[in-house]
Amino acid sequence: MAFVVHRLAVLQDNYVFVLHDRGEAAVVDPAVAAPVIDKLRELGARLVAIFNTHHHHDHVGGNRELLAAYPEAIVYGGAADEGRIPGQTVFLQHHDRVTFGGITGEVLFVPGHTRAHIAYHFPGHLFCGDTLFSGGCGRLFEGTPSQMVQSLSQLRQLPDDTKVWCAHEYTLNNLKFAVTIDPDNAALADRFEIVKQMRTDHIPTIPSTIGVEKATNPFLRWDSPALQRVTKQTEADRVFAKIRGMKDLF
Ligand code: ZN
Ligand code: FE
Repeated sequence: MAFVVHRLAVLQDNYVFVLHDRGEAAVVDPAVAAPVIDKLRELGARLVAIFNTHHHHDHVGGNRELLAAYPEAIVYGGAADEGRIPGQTVFLQHHDRVTFGGITGEVLFVPGHTRAHIAYHFPGHLFCGDTLFSGGCGRLFEGTPSQMVQSLSQLRQLPDDTKVWCAHEYTLNNLKFAVTIDPDNAALADRFEIVKQMRTDHIPTIPSTIGVEKATNPFLRWDSPALQRVTKQTEADRVFAKIRGMKDLF
């Protein structure tokens, strides 16, 4: 048993993910409703769940309209997002479990981008919103570097072949920055070339995988000697904070 993930490109650079299994569907971070409803009709599927990672409008903007069309859909979000996610009825804590299509996923509390951010880990699939990006990570709007390091540490421990379904197409820009601070990383240099070509050809770079991110994403590489040298720091939180600060100015 497995669900199929459909990736919808919406707004400027957001991705919405529709999970489909035999007539039922779930959606992750519906920024807008209309393309989701079109997809559900095309699939002939009924929406049973909305999985939100955090309260930002480009992740929950479609909740109300989807609920109007599919009133029985259940809206999941982090417990600490209570009052910030439209229609939310399930308030998830770290290590809570959710199911879709007969598959059980685990909720990971990953604060940093926002104080309530969660990720959904199903076997082989990670839906991580704006916490881990392909080649980067979310800005720290409501959290500290140390929280983000803890959050990313959890994601970094997932199996290497886990698909990383992040919510934005930011890979090319992220890698442009990454090569400036990790210039001797051959895996990163190779990936940068591949991603440049993909974006020239308008090919989405999502999903990535945990293995690829561990090898090339500077925000998961606080223990790499190269990044410790560049940041002149050795302690994880400080290496990370330095890289985040440099990226914010890039
Ligand atoms: Zn966000
Ligand atoms: Fe976002």
